[in-house]
Amino acid sequence: MGVALLQRCTKCLMPATRPRITFNNEGVCNACTWAEEKKKIDWTARGSLLKEICDKYRSQNGNFDCIVPVSGGKDSSYVAYMMKHELKMNPLCVHIAPPTPMPIGDENLQRFIQSGYDCITIHANPMVSQAIAKKTLVEFGQPLMAWMTNVQVAIFKTAINFKIPLIMFGEEGETEYGGTDKLKSTPYYDFEDSLKIYLSGIDPKKYIDLGFSENELYFWLYPSMDEAKKGNLAITHFSFFENWDPYHHYLVAKEKCGLKERTDASVGTYTNFAQTDTFLYDLHSYLMFLKFGFGRCTADVGIDIRRGALEREQGKHLVKRFDGHYPPEEYIKIYCDYFQMTRNELDAVFDKFANKTYLEKINGAWKLTSEIL
Ligand SMILES: [Zn+2]
Repeated sequence: MGVALLQRCTKCLMPATRPRITFNNEGVCNACTWAEEKKKIDWTARGSLLKEICDKYRSQNGNFDCIVPVSGGKDSSYVAYMMKHELKMNPLCVHIAPPTPMPIGDENLQRFIQSGYDCITIHANPMVSQAIAKKTLVEFGQPLMAWMTNVQVAIFKTAINFKIPLIMFGEEGETEYGGTDKLKSTPYYDFEDSLKIYLSGIDPKKYIDLGFSENELYFWLYPSMDEAKKGNLAITHFSFFENWDPYHHYLVAKEKCGLKERTDASVGTYTNFAQTDTFLYDLHSYLMFLKFGFGRCTADVGIDIRRGALEREQGKHLVKRFDGHYPPEEYIKIYCDYFQMTRNELDAVFDKFANKTYLEKINGAWKLTSEIL
């Protein structure tokens, strides 16, 4: 138990357990290969394509012409800024209120809006959301699934209802961080890709089993293909058109949209400016560590190695120090309150999903036993 060696990317430390990751003959993961390929992409051509798309959809009648889903975080603020000020579009920003919001996330969202944006917030029924979140936590170890579904479905439905033809998400994380490369060479995706790639194929229709009606699940059930066709929706990611650089986004969002970072580092890593919208993100990261043996720090280290800001050896030290940090007591209390679970029930979920090949429970806490080579 817990003695197998976890294979890792020879460049960035991302382990083979990451869903949909692939390695080349030199043991380099697809995110690192992509980081090299990105240097050869004709970004000028892709930038022109973005302008063409914007020209095609730019509003002539005073309506909004694109939706930018926003959280108040660095990437979405940056995309909204670019769409509005560089590409001269008329974006409607849509914020999907997360469960257990972090105060810093709320503050950043307010500062972002104050910097000059039209924004609506959708609060999908919290009782439905909680029930779905609990089900997906216990069944799949995925506490964020209810919200992540809203971030897809409620955005699509808002676009259709407001008759807004273009949806501009931020990063296409699969290509960027080592997942499927299906969207590597095409800017658009559809509901089927959304379900398969972003919701791990977990069809929201199954939430009907929880006893909710289709009406109550409005912000979770995908629109029909007919509705999508009528809406003539184009769904895309900004990261297709520009060399995606989260650190650059952080700087721009700070300067142009009032973004502030946490004063301390996020739990389980050394950075302080990413994913600060919900406490559940930390739970999601901890479960990722339990299931796959890597946490938020490994993900951050990968980004920094790929952008040339960190050596692999330094990365190893950081991963050893931060990855898989058990959530702090005050967070555990928030989780128990939110999911209406006792501490023991929550720990039982952790035990259920812990990867017993690479982790071992030592003094009550799951630890990675595999050496980091
Ligand atoms: Zn890699």
